[in-house]
Amino acid sequence: GPTANVLDAELVETPANKGFSPFLETEKDKSTLSIVVVGASGDLARKKIFPALFALFYDDHLPQNFTIYGYARSVMTDMELRNVISRTLTCRIDKRENCEEKMNQFLKRCFYHSGQYSSEEHFLELDSKLREKEAGRRSNRLFYLAIPPDVFVDATRCAKHRASSENGWTRVIIEKPFGRDTESSRELTRTLKQYLTEDQIFRIDHQLGEELVENLLALRFSNLVFEPLWSRNYIRSVQLIFSEDFGVEGRGRYFENYGIIRDIMQNHLLQILSLFAMDTPVSLDAEDIRNEKVKVLRSIKPVELKDVIVGQYKRHCEGNVCYPAYTDDPTVSNDSLTPTFAAATMFINNSRWDGVPIMLVAGKALQSKRAEIRVQFRHVPGNLYNRNSGTDLDKATNELVLRIQPEEAIYLKVNNKVPGLGMRLDRGDLNLLYKSRYPREFPDAYERLLLDAMKGERRSFIRSDELEAAWAVFTPLLKELEEKKVVPELYSYGSSGPVGVHYLAAEHNVRLG
Ligand code: NDP
Repeated sequence: GPTANVLDAELVETPANKGFSPFLETEKDKSTLSIVVVGASGDLARKKIFPALFALFYDDHLPQNFTIYGYARSVMTDMELRNVISRTLTCRIDKRENCEEKMNQFLKRCFYHSGQYSSEEHFLELDSKLREKEAGRRSNRLFYLAIPPDVFVDATRCAKHRASSENGWTRVIIEKPFGRDTESSRELTRTLKQYLTEDQIFRIDHQLGEELVENLLALRFSNLVFEPLWSRNYIRSVQLIFSEDFGVEGRGRYFENYGIIRDIMQNHLLQILSLFAMDTPVSLDAEDIRNEKVKVLRSIKPVELKDVIVGQYKRHCEGNVCYPAYTDDPTVSNDSLTPTFAAATMFINNSRWDGVPIMLVAGKALQSKRAEIRVQFRHVPGNLYNRNSGTDLDKATNELVLRIQPEEAIYLKVNNKVPGLGMRLDRGDLNLLYKSRYPREFPDAYERLLLDAMKGERRSFIRSDELEAAWAVFTPLLKELEEKKVVPELYSYGSSGPVGVHYLAAEHNVRLG
């Protein structure tokens, strides 16, 4: 019956998913979408962007008239580009019989133009090729800058001056890093805004496209049971953990210049934290959500050195197998002080979160790969069951875990009586394991975000004032670490990180997850 339908989460239509197809019927035939992947020869383009575009095509999310252009300096023919990208396309969602055919249809719409990122002339050549495909229709153009940050501005200038749409919209997706501190980020924003309006800039943070992160607001604001507990009154501590079980693997040159705080914490973890901690937005509109995110980011006190542990992974051998140290990377100097691990305790200076320690933990070459939010609740006042049982009061508190990766899940640790004649409690999980509840494979984060950019949905992209607020949290710390040449604590490749993190956690009564 209708009541049952309404209760089924999958069927509830929110303003955000209403009219899911980005293109109105009437516009279908008239407009055309040109997607230009700048840096098409690179790693990100091959591994993420082209496969995501194919998945969208495969699921009928691209408009009827679309063209994809790869652009980079490497010399390649259209056929060569198609060969390269065809190797990474998969038909993973609802594998249908016509996959092969769909791939061929998709590849036929992919073209390549070779040019320099700073050459307006080369972008003009691209423009005339795009016009040919657009055949006089109203054209919308989406540029994806999958290039190193030092050529962002050049490519934006050229795209704006020589290849933007004359009768439709032009949007530019930009990848991190958005600067390396407050000043450089501000400068990047200032220069980009010489060519584009804020509305045309889509700063991507792929964590915001993860299913569980998207779900954070739904979980908080569509369930009565969580929101009343979501404050200092009931929450004792929060952890945001992002760990990888591999090292820099060939990306040493990039990493050496940024380090883990800039690579993971200042962007991915702070973004997740802002969705976790923000107040109720006026609506689900992008600007309402981003307004709340900025507010909470601006309420975070800049992180202090005393509340931080930095680490760097060292060589570790098991029998004959050895895993390299960070400094074994040929592009990294032997005396590098770049942190590959960091843990930071921070506080949000507002009435909701005052005094609640929030611990951000990020690291490479650790024992596991995972991204999680762990919320530890206070103990039950006057808990009857802790008095004589010898149970550790601290360990018996509730904990809510939101596991973003791998194996998406939301689980709540609760105390439960062990069945039997005695009165003994143990801890069990109320567990919403995604793979059993939602067995269908989910779209990759890049698919969701690309589709959002095509729709003009800005909710999951970072506005410039958010970026500014996020840098303000970490810039003083980053300066101090560098000025004082703080030596990172070494930890073995594949371990649980530097020992210091346990002291930091204990100081604020955080039970490490
Ligand atoms: P790549 O190093 O693979 O570079 C992409 C392309 O840019 C290359 O194929 C090359 O194309 C061109 N390029 C490389 N170095 C230079 C240079 N010094 N000057 C001018 N052009 C150059 O980068 P990725 O694909 O890994 O990443 C692209 C962007 O996305 C970067 O900003 C990165 O920080 C960001 N990013 C990447 C992620 C990933 O998983 N790889 C994840 C998150 C963000 P050609 O020589 O043909 O012009």
